[in-house]
Amino acid sequence: MGLIPLLFMTILLAGAFPAAAQELQLTGSFAQGGLVIGRIDPGARVALDGKDVRVSKEGMFLLGFGRDAAAAAELRLVLADGAESVQTLRITQREYKIQRIDGLPTKKVTPDPASVKRISIENAMIKKVRAVDTDRAYFASGFDWPVKGPISGVFGSQRVLNGKPKNPHNGVDVAAPQGTVIVAPADGVVALVHGDMFYTGKTVMIDHGHGLTSVYAHMSAILVKDGQKVARGTPIGKIGKTGRVTGPHLHWGVTLFGTHLDPRLLTGPMPKGN
Ligand SMILES: [Zn+2]
Repeated sequence: MGLIPLLFMTILLAGAFPAAAQELQLTGSFAQGGLVIGRIDPGARVALDGKDVRVSKEGMFLLGFGRDAAAAAELRLVLADGAESVQTLRITQREYKIQRIDGLPTKKVTPDPASVKRISIENAMIKKVRAVDTDRAYFASGFDWPVKGPISGVFGSQRVLNGKPKNPHNGVDVAAPQGTVIVAPADGVVALVHGDMFYTGKTVMIDHGHGLTSVYAHMSAILVKDGQKVARGTPIGKIGKTGRVTGPHLHWGVTLFGTHLDPRLLTGPMPKGN
């Protein structure tokens, strides 16, 4: 399936409520890995598949659909006056690149105990950032590519080694020359700066509000400080190959709380010529 059909669609549900003046607007990608930005009357309550979703004071909210999200999701809306509406959202199902490699020697590469401990500490730091639920709708700025270049790794791809599935690739990789400047793709606040993570090397995370965070890995330099407010386009770091990688590239991940999203569905395709 091509990427384009997965991209931005706006649904206006003017007749969602008996009182016709109310309007619900949903814009984004209704597909596995997609993010949808909703607008509704301030004061409304929103739940997706039974789980409450934060609504900003301007009436904005986020819906995220994971790599393996079901084909239908239930959106429940309750307006300030008590009027209630339930919508079924159809979620496009995707096929992911699966690479099966069999007959590998059974000798496993496992990190030594000190590294295992380090990895678990670093994973906890990342998890903590991903749990933050800031009330500011920074994401309303929209998203650009943080760096331009050939895409060397796509979201959702998975390797199956000797029949054992590995974790799916939970972001997008962009190849670019060492030292190329990486910018914040959207407004936000820097929520993590780490000079040397085991897997991701020099790493930055940005909080875009409402539980939406992004991560930038393998950088050669970091240009921001923890807690710094960044705007769409602010330089945050430089392309490198720190951490467990073989060549210079940016690993860019976007997560809504624990749910990994496909960054490509936020930005649209990489501009031509890259
Ligand atoms: Zn990657």
